[in-house]
Amino acid sequence: MAEDFEARFRSPEAYSLARSALELLEGERVWPTPINYEIWAYVTAEPDSPLAKELARIREKGEAITEDVAEKLASIYLPRRRLSEHIRDTGQALSRELASAEQAIRTAQATSETFSSRLEETSRTLRADPSSDALRGVVADLSDATRSMQAQNAEVERALAASTSEVAMLREQLQEIRKEAATDPLTRLANRRAFDEEIERVRSGAEATGEPFCLVLLDIDHFKKFNDTWGHQTGDQVLRYVAGIIRKRVSPPRFASRFGGEEFAFILPGENLFDASPLVNSILKDVSSTSIRRRSTNDNLGIITLSAGIAAFRSGESVHDLVERADTNLYTAKRRGRNRVVIESKV
Ligand code: GH3
Ligand code: MG
Ligand code: MG
Repeated sequence: MAEDFEARFRSPEAYSLARSALELLEGERVWPTPINYEIWAYVTAEPDSPLAKELARIREKGEAITEDVAEKLASIYLPRRRLSEHIRDTGQALSRELASAEQAIRTAQATSETFSSRLEETSRTLRADPSSDALRGVVADLSDATRSMQAQNAEVERALAASTSEVAMLREQLQEIRKEAATDPLTRLANRRAFDEEIERVRSGAEATGEPFCLVLLDIDHFKKFNDTWGHQTGDQVLRYVAGIIRKRVSPPRFASRFGGEEFAFILPGENLFDASPLVNSILKDVSSTSIRRRSTNDNLGIITLSAGIAAFRSGESVHDLVERADTNLYTAKRRGRNRVVIESKV
């Protein structure tokens, strides 16, 4: 799909597609920033795509396409392409750098081989004719070879230094990409993929050492109703607000992530249920202690609450089973009236 879309922007209809995208942007009074252009270009080329439908839905509701909304749309509907392009570019730059460093090293090797064969040749000449004329010739020849080798070495050094700083920069870029790939764009917490990796890592560590760890699942109460009443964008603000509270309370080695839509998951290494529940209770209390206000109008939107389920890892069990037990406890918390934490009674 992404390739079809890109191919159409390299075909005879490309300029008319680009013009239509710009006209649409202008007609809808949306700034043609690179990300907006990318979204509208996609929608122009793929009018039946899920992205086009989502955009139509937002327009129908009369909601503004803010930078955040555009970022979110792009990250949901154009994610693999954007990230994979970035990875491909960095990967290509890295191999170019490695190839040029390799070339520089090969040149250095060739130069030093030439130098040593000239040395051998000179010592042969001297053995055959140790006269002072021959000696003068040898000295001139050797200093010539030395100068040429010095020049070559300086060149190689310069090329290697340039390569090293380029590689350091690319390494930083790769780290940035890795971080981005592990982060949820809306809340800036770790995303589900990062959670899956982390819990597997902590689980195998716990199996090896016998150390305990806990998993916490949290879910915003009646969030559908909140969205229906106040709009999806205000809902997004709430997700950010809850994530902000979580970030303040959960720091390494504890791990907090956005598990799914309005669900969060914590991994608490080295902790048992009795360590975990005060932390979770304090987060529930923080979230529910202030009523939410809409930024633009200062309207009071009421109180948001969370429910949570905690499960302690049992040696030998799979991540799937552990998640299921935490989820069962979360469900129990919902059934018992929400805004509460349920830990398993049987350990
Ligand atoms: P419960 O108390 O039982 O959890 O009820 P609920 O309404 O919170 O649960 P339900 O699963 O019925 O609805 C979850 C809602 O969360 C529906 C969906 O629109 C909303 N949601 C999921 N992801 C996002 C998001 O990224 N932004 C916004 N604004 N809403 C989201
Ligand atoms: Mg839910
Ligand atoms: Mg919910």
